[in-house]
Amino acid sequence: MSKELSRRDFLKGAAATAVSAAFLGVTGTAAPKAKAAAAYIPGTYTATATGMGTVTMTATFSETAITDIVLDVSQETEGIGKAAGDTLVSQLMAAQAPEIDGVSGASMTSEAARECLRNCIAQATGTTVSAVVEDAAPVEHGAWYDEKYFAKPDPITDIAETIDTDVVVIGAGNGGLVAAASAADLGAKVTLVEKNATWITWAGEMGAYNSKLMNEEYGIHYTDEELLEISNEICRYAGYECDQRLINLWLFNSGRTMDWFVDQMEAKGIHMFLETDMKDTRYMNKPQTHTVYEHFEELGPNQMGAQLANPKWVEIIEEKGGSILWQHTAKQLVQDENGRVTGIIIQRNEDGAYIQINAAKGVVLSTGGYGGNPEMMEALHYRDKDVICNNLGCGFAMGDGIKMAMWAGADIDRNHAGGVAFDRAAVDLDHHTGAPYTSGLGDIWWPGSQPWLNLNTHGERFCNEDNTYDFHINSWLTQPGHIGFQIFDSNYWSDVQAFHTTICSRVVAVPGARNSEVLPGVMPCKSGEQFYDVYIKPALDSGKLQQADTLEELADKLGFEGEYKENFLKSIERYNELCDGGVDYDFGKMSKDMTPVKQGPFYGIALGSWLLATMNGVRVNTNLEAITPEGNAIPGLYVIGNDMGGFFSNSYPQMFGGTAHGKTVCFARLATLHAVTGSIYES
Ligand SMILES: Cc1cc2nc3c(=O)[nH]c(=O)nc-3n(C[C@H](O)[C@H](O)[C@H](O)COP(=O)(O)OP(=O)(O)OC[C@H]3O[C@@H](n4cnc5c(N)ncnc54)[C@H](O)[C@@H]3O)c2cc1C
Repeated sequence: MSKELSRRDFLKGAAATAVSAAFLGVTGTAAPKAKAAAAYIPGTYTATATGMGTVTMTATFSETAITDIVLDVSQETEGIGKAAGDTLVSQLMAAQAPEIDGVSGASMTSEAARECLRNCIAQATGTTVSAVVEDAAPVEHGAWYDEKYFAKPDPITDIAETIDTDVVVIGAGNGGLVAAASAADLGAKVTLVEKNATWITWAGEMGAYNSKLMNEEYGIHYTDEELLEISNEICRYAGYECDQRLINLWLFNSGRTMDWFVDQMEAKGIHMFLETDMKDTRYMNKPQTHTVYEHFEELGPNQMGAQLANPKWVEIIEEKGGSILWQHTAKQLVQDENGRVTGIIIQRNEDGAYIQINAAKGVVLSTGGYGGNPEMMEALHYRDKDVICNNLGCGFAMGDGIKMAMWAGADIDRNHAGGVAFDRAAVDLDHHTGAPYTSGLGDIWWPGSQPWLNLNTHGERFCNEDNTYDFHINSWLTQPGHIGFQIFDSNYWSDVQAFHTTICSRVVAVPGARNSEVLPGVMPCKSGEQFYDVYIKPALDSGKLQQADTLEELADKLGFEGEYKENFLKSIERYNELCDGGVDYDFGKMSKDMTPVKQGPFYGIALGSWLLATMNGVRVNTNLEAITPEGNAIPGLYVIGNDMGGFFSNSYPQMFGGTAHGKTVCFARLATLHAVTGSIYES
């Protein structure tokens, strides 16, 4: 690893270098426009304003013109606000005034640049700047996120069309499809709204307890005491920064809601599978993972999950009389004078027309969180934003549901939670993490969760690799560049058999485990040859994985140089010694996972985080109704899926496979039961 700046550091450095108008070729000789007649007090003035971070401007004035603007956007979002700096300076210099178009997608940075220039002009004309300060959004006591970003927009009034229904569901994803089908199954008139032309096909494993499938077909039963033990373990992952009542709601009700799910799927000829092959691990790891599954061949690649289930949910909704509005985007909730949510305004993508849907029984939001919105991550001080480098599967999630609920008065989690994420994003050798994210299949290295040796960019081992993948990502956050290098040797097949990772990190096919292909070419294997064909060869071909006959050569190929190369070689030597003794005296890794790196060819790959879902969102009560900061329900508004908060914080409980999707479908059923019947229980 070179000591030179990484690409990310380079970009940061470039952005921090103030964008000068002179650099842009816009000089002090530019003809003044709007301010030609104004008398400025010549000089250089400085102002700051809040964009995503602090934006600072230094503007130089002659008597009649703004002759130079230097804009520091180094605290703005990588690839968005930072990239907008040059254009904003050009626009401001050309306009000679703050009234500019700004840069699309970088609205916060644009507004901060305008505000800075207003302030500098006020100083240069000797007028007070207090008006500018007063314009800033008031900061309420207790606010910790960027209130300006979440400012409530003006209500939409030009409604072209009105629809009357009982229940409106927003988002044809894992939560929305089940909610719409459930409401229709309960006899309600349902309208499902989706901004894209089709449904989501990601995710497959759903956690649930004491379903009939689990109790009767698999003979597994959990007592109340055991469920509460699990409840407390899940709270520990969250540091108890969660509402334990919601976790219990899922644990104690997911069985009956899963029974309903299974019945609906069975009626469509689709079967379910329960994962029973568990890992020998230091973490609590229980059978809970239900998977929609097609057994084409017992240990071959079978189909699973949302790929199979979601098209069936679309059929079920339509068969039960529900209507689906594809390519319509939800914009704003409608409330009556008592605050009850009575409907929602959506926009037809084709022509921009607004449609108001009046919902007599409620609105269910399930728009998938904000994994596609780096600006919102900044505004919420999202903890993991710097370690993510891929968001395949959640790039469309812009936080719309969360924002709409907030505008309606709902509270959100007061944490900076990490995400549901995999430590399986292959990082280019220029080591880029942070927005903009990639989302290509070729950027995924599925064996990233295998507990092989992991080194940082300085060639040092820094933690126990045998922890869950969310913990791994947390540890990368503490390291330079926020990435780790996974290093292994030609014994990879015997290694992964010893590791015996389970659920979605599984790479070895065994009975009692689902053996499914969700992404092309990603499935547990039956032999080393198959492992090579499915994983190693494609990654070598893409240039993400490096192969070398010697460790020196591998270090070179991975970009380690000088002192860092020496560290790299010493770290491997030390690790091999520990493996020989069978005890990890440095970090306490389990002995069975201490597999040496001795037998060439050797392999190495740089890894970062692949974000699947954000975890923090709108606070709800145990009826899944959104609540205000005072804890009062907002009647008529239900929030589920990734838009819902109160359940996770800190780290996702990975060893409880399918908890995110499992609680999503459970709460989709419970929310619609409450909306339609007034109770979360079937009568
Ligand atoms: C690749 C991948 C694999 C995963 N695997 C698992 C797994 O195996 N187990 C597990 O527990 N979890 C898994 N997850 C996480 C899981 O999918 C989520 O936690 C959750 O279940 C998603 O449900 P949702 O309804 O909130 O969002 P989504 O399923 O993402 O659906 C949201 C929908 O809302 C639409 N939408 C957004 N904004 C608007 C708007 N303004 N108007 C209209 N429509 C809008 C979107 O287009 C999208 O169709 C996975 C996620 C990914 C990306």
